[in-house]
Parts: sequence; C-alpha cells; structure tokens
Amino acid sequence: MDRYVRLEKLGEGTYATVYKGKNRLTSDVVALKEIHLDAEEGAPSTAIREISLMKELKHPNIMRLFDVIHTERTLTLVFEYMDQDLKRFMDAHGGALDPVLCRNFMFQLLRGIAFCHENRVLHRDLKPQNLLINARMELKLGDFGLARAFGIPVNTFSNEVVTLWYRAPDVLLGSRNYSTSIDIWSTGCIMAEMYTGKPLFPGKTNEDQLIKIFKLLGTPTEESWPRVSEFSEYKPTFPLYPPSDLRVRLPMLDQISLDLITRMLQYQPHLRINAKDALVHVYFREIIQQVAAAEQAAAVAALAAGGGAAAHHHPGGPYH
Ligand code: ADP
Ligand code: MG
Repeated sequence: MDRYVRLEKLGEGTYATVYKGKNRLTSDVVALKEIHLDAEEGAPSTAIREISLMKELKHPNIMRLFDVIHTERTLTLVFEYMDQDLKRFMDAHGGALDPVLCRNFMFQLLRGIAFCHENRVLHRDLKPQNLLINARMELKLGDFGLARAFGIPVNTFSNEVVTLWYRAPDVLLGSRNYSTSIDIWSTGCIMAEMYTGKPLFPGKTNEDQLIKIFKLLGTPTEESWPRVSEFSEYKPTFPLYPPSDLRVRLPMLDQISLDLITRMLQYQPHLRINAKDALVHVYFREIIQQVAAAEQAAAVAALAAGGGAAAHHHPGGPYH
C-alpha cells in the first residue's frame, strides 16, 4: 500500500469507502476503494479471484481497475480516477439533463454494458451512483463484478438501505435466475431519470417497489407474463392496475425515445432488448453516423500516416 498516498474521501458506497489517491512514483491520481471486510473471515478467496478478473475488463466505458491490494485487514481496489458520479452530476445540474446529453450518456452506458455482457459479466447493481463521469463527459460503469463477488447486502456498511429503485421485476418477485436482462431493466430506469431528473420507481420496500412498477406498466397477469404467479414473492392479492400512458409520465420523450425505453422495460426478461441491439436502435441514429464518420476519418489519417492496420486501434470520436 505504500505505493499510494491516500488523500481526501470521495464517497461511500455499498461495500466500500472511496478515497482519492496518488501514485508515489508516477504522481498519477487514482481512486482507492477500501472494501470493508468481515473482521473474522477476511477477504473470501473466491471474491479476490472474481475481482482480479475485472482487471482484464478493459473498455473506454468501464472504470479501469489497475490493481487489487490485499493486506491483512483491508482489500483495496485501485481504480482510474473519475470526477463525479451521475447522481451528483444530475443534482448539480438541477435534475433533468439536456436531451442531447441524455442520448450521449445512454450510448456510452450501453456500450459499456454490451462489452461486459459479451464477456459474460453482469453488473447487477446499475444505478446513477455507480456511473462515473469525468470532465470530458465520458461515462464509465463502476462496481462491475462486485455484486457477484460480495453479493448485494440489504444495508450498506454505513447502514443506509441499498436502493431497490433499479431492480428488475423478476428479481423483486424472487427470481434467482439472473441474466443480462436485469442490467437492461436498470438502464431503462436510468434513462427515464436522466430525462426527468427524478427516479422512475422510487420504492421503499420490495413490495412497494413492485407496486410502483405495476402502477405505470400495469399489474402483470398470466396472460401478459406466463407463470408470473409461480414466483416466490408473487401475491394473488396484488392490486390490479391497468397500464398507464408512458407519454403522460415521460412527456419530454419523443416517440422514438419512448420506443427504446419500452423495449428495455419489458416484464418478461427474454423480451427485453439486449445492449447490442439497443445500440443500433434509431434513437442513436445520429450518434452512429458521427461515430462512423470519426472512425473513417481515423482510418484515413492512419493510412496517410502509413500504418494501415492501426486504424482499428484508434476509433477516436467523441464517444470513447
Ligand atoms: P460501492 O461499490 O461500495 O457502492 P462505489 O464504487 O459505488 O462504492 O463508490 C462510492 C462513491 O465513491 C461513488 O458513488 C462515487 O461518488 C465515488 N467514487 C467511486 N469510484 C470513484 C472513482 N473511480 N473516482 C471518483 N470517485 C469515485
Ligand atoms: Mg456503488
């Protein structure tokens, strides 16, 4: 640990306290995430192995994990430094974000998710606090793989309740059959929140969370969601709400944006759009064109520089 100087505290999360840090040799600024370990058990070796795999997960929209330092009492993860998280960013901008920025952030978010899902890693706990932003408006996913390594506790170590707001209905209903679709549900909730500045489903308990979802999307039935009544947390006494109009709830979204969000907020996990398909939705048409143009320009520049094959490694453009 003497490789880093610990500076001020940046935040607290579900598992850890995060400090700003500085590499003594290189002066690089990093984020030091100190995981609170069970005093008796220490760091479970499966968790360490799980986390060490995250070092290989390198993508412009994933918070880079440089090092895992395991001492007797603590487990410190050394991450790339980011300026703030999306929740603070939204608070600082008075809640709702500009639609152009929403789209840009959504693209980066889905790129990061698509990369992780391709590598068979689920996030399981996507929320604005776990999306980090830097001054260049790059958005990166933090906390990848930690839920797998440590499980999602009911309370944070500082005793705050862990939020349920972004949790998929299948998980709330008791499904343990986690798949990539749970991250897509969370992404739909985050998309709505970026546009409105308010959480879409701010539930207080597991059941309240379900009821908030039912009030907007309609209470699921055996017709709309076959075998829904077989889930352990399903109650035949759930109030029956009809689906309400998303346009009323999300008036700042146009038809195309509503189409994308609807595809993410599907009750049945297998009907939710996947990240790769979401990235080619018409909602992103302009960004896709810009990225293609930037990639082409980079390819041309690389050719001019005499290194044809290099183009592939320099995608460039504003979204990397
Ligand atoms: P946990 O996994 O315990 O939830 P997080 O990684 O979410 O911890 O970190 C908690 C908070 O610390 C974040 O919401 C953010 O404000 C801050 N933070 C986390 N990682 C970084 C980072 N790389 N750079 C700057 N701040 C960070
Ligand atoms: Mg967190």
